[in-house]
Amino acid sequence: MKLLLIIATLFTFSFAKIDIAVTYTYIEDIGKKIGGDLVSINTLSKPKEDPHFVMARPSLIAKLRNVDLLILNGGQIEIGWLPPLIKRSNNAKVFDGASGFLDLSQSIDMMDAHEEVSRSHGDVHPDGNPHFILDPYNVPIVAKAIHDKLAALDAKNEAIYTKNYETFIKGWNEKLVEWDKKMKPFEGKKVIQYHKSFDYFLKRYKMELLDTIEPIPGISPTSKHIMGLIKTIKNEKSPLLIMHDVYHNRKAAQLISAKTNLKIIDVPHDVDALQDANNIENLYNTIIDGLLK
Ligand SMILES: [Zn+2]
Repeated sequence: MKLLLIIATLFTFSFAKIDIAVTYTYIEDIGKKIGGDLVSINTLSKPKEDPHFVMARPSLIAKLRNVDLLILNGGQIEIGWLPPLIKRSNNAKVFDGASGFLDLSQSIDMMDAHEEVSRSHGDVHPDGNPHFILDPYNVPIVAKAIHDKLAALDAKNEAIYTKNYETFIKGWNEKLVEWDKKMKPFEGKKVIQYHKSFDYFLKRYKMELLDTIEPIPGISPTSKHIMGLIKTIKNEKSPLLIMHDVYHNRKAAQLISAKTNLKIIDVPHDVDALQDANNIENLYNTIIDGLLK
C-alpha cells in the first residue's frame, strides 16, 4: 500500500504542469513554445484590450491565486492594473522579487529610459517605452528569460526546455533574415501613430516617427493638436503612412487620412489583436504584410 502511494505520488509529481499566469498573449505564445506540455498558461488580458488599462476582473485574482509563476512585460505598462491583483491573490510565490515573479523588461535595453520624468510627459511611460516586443529582435531575449526561469523552477526538465528554446531560436533567426529583407524598402519612411506603440519596430527597420496622434502618452488629442498634425503632414515632403493599433479610437486617424490622403494601416500590437496575428511569428508577418500591401 505504501509503495502504491509512493508510485501514485511520483506519477502525479512527474506529470504536474507548472501553472503560469502571464499578462499578455505574446508571453503566452512564447511560453508555450519553450514550456511545451510541461506548462499550463493563463493570460490575464484580452488581446484587443488596451494593455495599459486591462479591466481588473475578479476572475483574474482567482487565476493568480494558485499559479507557480507570473510572467509580466514590465516597464510599468501593467502598473495601473496588476499590482492590486497580485496583492489580492495573496499568493506569495508571485510577489515582486519572489522566485515565481518574472519581469521581462529587466532583460531589455529600454528606449527612452533616461528621459526626464514628469507629469508633463503623460501618464504611462515613466520608465521608458515598454512596448519592446514590437522589435522582433527582442523575442529571443524574452524567450531566453523564460527558458532560464522555467529551468530554475523545474531543473529536472531543463534539457527539454533547452531543446524547445534552441528549436525556437533556430526558426526565429530565419524569420529575422526574411523580415529584414522585406523591410529594407521602408528605410527612412516616416510614420504617424496614435501612441508610441511601434517605436521599437520603427527603430529596428530605420523608419522615423513623425508624430503621435495623442499629444503625450495616455492623453487624448485636442482638435488643435490634430489640426497642427495635419499641417505638419502637409508640409512633409517624404512618403508617410499611419500605423494604427486596434485599441485606440480610429476617428482622429480617419480625419487625418481624409485631409491628407495618408493610408491607415491597422497593425496588431500583440498576438491575436488581429485575426491573422495568431502567434508570435504571425504578429510580425501581419505588421509587415500590412505595410507591403
Ligand atoms: Zn504605452
